[in-house]
Amino acid sequence: MPLHEGPQHDERPMSVNPFLGPANPVGDMTEAPPRHRMPTAPMAPSTAYQLVHDELMLDGNARLNLATFVTTWMEPQAGVLMAECRDKNMIDKDEYPRTAELERRCVAMLADLWHAPDPSAAVGCSTTGSSEACMLAGMALKRRWMRRNVDRYPSRDARPNLVMGVNVQICWDKFCAFWEVEARQVPMEGERFHLDPRAAAELCDENTIGVVGVLGSTFDGSYEPVADLCAALDELQERTGLDIPVHVDAASGGMIAPFLDEDLVWDFRLPRVASINTSGHKYGLVYPGVGWALWRDADALPEELVFRVNYLGGDMPTFALNFSRPGAQVVAQYYTFLRLGRDGYRAVQRASRDVATRLSARLESLGDFRLLTRGDELPVFAFTTAPEVTAYDVFDVSRRMRENGWLVPAYTFPANREDLSVLRVVCRNGFSEDLADMFAEDLARLLPDLRRQQRPLTRDRNAATAFHH
Ligand SMILES: *Cc1c(COP(=O)(O)O)cnc(C)c1O
Repeated sequence: MPLHEGPQHDERPMSVNPFLGPANPVGDMTEAPPRHRMPTAPMAPSTAYQLVHDELMLDGNARLNLATFVTTWMEPQAGVLMAECRDKNMIDKDEYPRTAELERRCVAMLADLWHAPDPSAAVGCSTTGSSEACMLAGMALKRRWMRRNVDRYPSRDARPNLVMGVNVQICWDKFCAFWEVEARQVPMEGERFHLDPRAAAELCDENTIGVVGVLGSTFDGSYEPVADLCAALDELQERTGLDIPVHVDAASGGMIAPFLDEDLVWDFRLPRVASINTSGHKYGLVYPGVGWALWRDADALPEELVFRVNYLGGDMPTFALNFSRPGAQVVAQYYTFLRLGRDGYRAVQRASRDVATRLSARLESLGDFRLLTRGDELPVFAFTTAPEVTAYDVFDVSRRMRENGWLVPAYTFPANREDLSVLRVVCRNGFSEDLADMFAEDLARLLPDLRRQQRPLTRDRNAATAFHH
């Protein structure tokens, strides 16, 4: 979300269709409303609706947006339930005990899905998304480290650090900045685009609050080797006595791997995994505004971070950054769990992964591109131009595809591989085999044009793309 800095010197009033203004016998609107000041007089609801509706028409077409991971389509029944719940405040657990109960059931289902050793002992909560969930999980790690170091912290030589790959999502940079934790990032190396377990273990010391493993990476959709990471930390513990917990940021993979990669051991089956988050609004298949954070057991979540409020009635413990929050998304998550079941989720995610692997193979066969990943982990793949392609680059591809309505982001990789620029395609429910074919055909049709360029043309690289979803 941009940090808005007031009016952009556009003092023109809004343009109003004469049907609503002078040609309206009710004479509702005598003067066009200003853009950046609250209008003086009220207007009819139908007029206000039409103005806002028209303004939003220029937003993109979500179906052609291959940049975002976030759900853009739900069944009408989910929409109805959400409309029925839009006045319910999630924090008000005494007034809305059934909404609270559905949240509790979702946590229990996720604890079971992620193999908590004792699902009834696991604790968890809904959040506004993975970013908030990661803040909460990071705070729990920091607090546990502080408890182990009461005699040393705060002091100059005891600055907490968190170890992660340089490919982590921006929320971990935020966590470290907001909560004053040093971010120790394992760089990329050659063709390794995510965390290396041994390198991560080497960065750990007595001030390490935890290590973050990502399932999977937003940069290329690859799963980080969480089991190997835990093994490297086991070995570190044997050698040094340091017992470092792991948090798995499974924003996307938490709702993919349990259905498509059941044999992959990345979750609470690994004793070192203390907590896991996922985004309900990504492959959890719910409209934006819901994430989940779970801890293996009560020991992993220090009690002093949990607040109880009694002034809404009741005495329900909560762990959250916000206080008030809509209940609709949590209800929609419960609906989706109930509606799809394990087999339904498997079918939906399987379809997305099939689209991703087929599309990546097709783009590879065009000859101009080199795949970094194939969409066989997250249904997400990254690709770049082949070494012999010099007439154009990924930023040109992004810009030209945008002319066809496709939003496919191009971006450079972080430290150690800044030389590498890629395009990324996120396949999610609603991006069908047919749309993927159209995408591949549009790209193939552009290639002769692109090959005729003298050199890459997209100078303003930031304009080519939008990343960080
Ligand atoms: C999307 C994402 C996040 C942030 O999730 P939000 O739900 O958008 O806040 C964090 N980590 C990873 C790995 C992600 O893919």
